[in-house]
Amino acid sequence: MSRVYNFSAGPAVLPEEVLKEAQEEMMDYRGCGMSVMEMSHRSKMFDDIINEAEQDFRELVGVPDNYKILFLQGGGSLQFAQIPMNLMKNRVADYIITGNWAKKAYQEAQIYGKANAVASSEDQNYTYIPDCSDLPIDDDADYVYICENNTIYGTEYKKLPNTKGKLLVADVSSNFLSRPIDVEKYGLFFGGVQKNVGPAGMVITVIRDDLITDSCLPGTPTMMKYKTQADKNSLYNTPNCWCIYICGKVFKWLKKNGGLEAMNERNEKKAKLLYDYLDQSKLFKGTVRKEDRSLMNVPFVTGDKDLDAKFVAEAKEAGLENLKGHRTVGGMRASIYNAMPYAGVEALVKFMGEFEKENLK
Ligand SMILES: *Cc1c(COP(=O)(O)O)cnc(C)c1O
Repeated sequence: MSRVYNFSAGPAVLPEEVLKEAQEEMMDYRGCGMSVMEMSHRSKMFDDIINEAEQDFRELVGVPDNYKILFLQGGGSLQFAQIPMNLMKNRVADYIITGNWAKKAYQEAQIYGKANAVASSEDQNYTYIPDCSDLPIDDDADYVYICENNTIYGTEYKKLPNTKGKLLVADVSSNFLSRPIDVEKYGLFFGGVQKNVGPAGMVITVIRDDLITDSCLPGTPTMMKYKTQADKNSLYNTPNCWCIYICGKVFKWLKKNGGLEAMNERNEKKAKLLYDYLDQSKLFKGTVRKEDRSLMNVPFVTGDKDLDAKFVAEAKEAGLENLKGHRTVGGMRASIYNAMPYAGVEALVKFMGEFEKENLK
């Protein structure tokens, strides 16, 4: 067996310990004679798995009792619709456009009401986070929406926007569980787990109790009401059992490794290594305004398309995979999520140094 350093933006690297445990339990989960993929979601076995996962998540993140934790399907993208269906009571919401994912959420909300773009960094290809200290928040806005870490562009909010008393709703897909989060600052936040937590196919939505109501927009399908899943502890219908099981193992791995404070320290250390290298490099350069740099997704370029392609190909040969940047940015992107070890970033920086020596004219 040989494993590569996988810098994919998502689905992405998972902790090896978690994969090994899952492998050991694959044929016979704890003496029940079947795998988790084969058991009823109504069984006692699975009930323990989902309850423990929820409890561990609650402890890890510090989710207060007046917030529900929902394990939902449809990915981050279905949340773009589910949020307005459930929260757009006045049919008005304010969106801050910091990248493709925020823009998609904004466009989806327009189906349901008046979505205002109250700030945007599209003018400079989303390479910065706009000043959000004094936004033209609509008096009738039901919420203010942000994408807290921009997976494609590599920017991250260091400070939450001033919502002037309105509810804050956040997409935290790509910095989910990468650092502590002050839950009470949000009405709702959600993360597709395939970026920094688990396998693809599930989103975790954390929502304040009072926002879970029956009064959704007319025509909202039963499955799209948060209340439907909240009332049934995410077991209204068959959930993504396998994903819940693996995420549960990742929560335990995170707890064992010191929780979110410790993750933040590790992630800062890894990001610093890469950014420090980029800042002194004569060949590579980061694409993002320094103060808005993401700890999770690091885009960089040489300025020469052919050289970028050569780098990606040679890096792959060296066991450093999935470094090609998103087509809207070009160049390279290294995603260095929780499960990427420090040694992986060291190997990347070492390889970049060698490549620079050979290719700098
Ligand atoms: C990947 C991603 C999404 C979309 O997730 P899907 O699960 O593919 O729908 C949404 N928001 C952010 C920030 C992402 O990185």
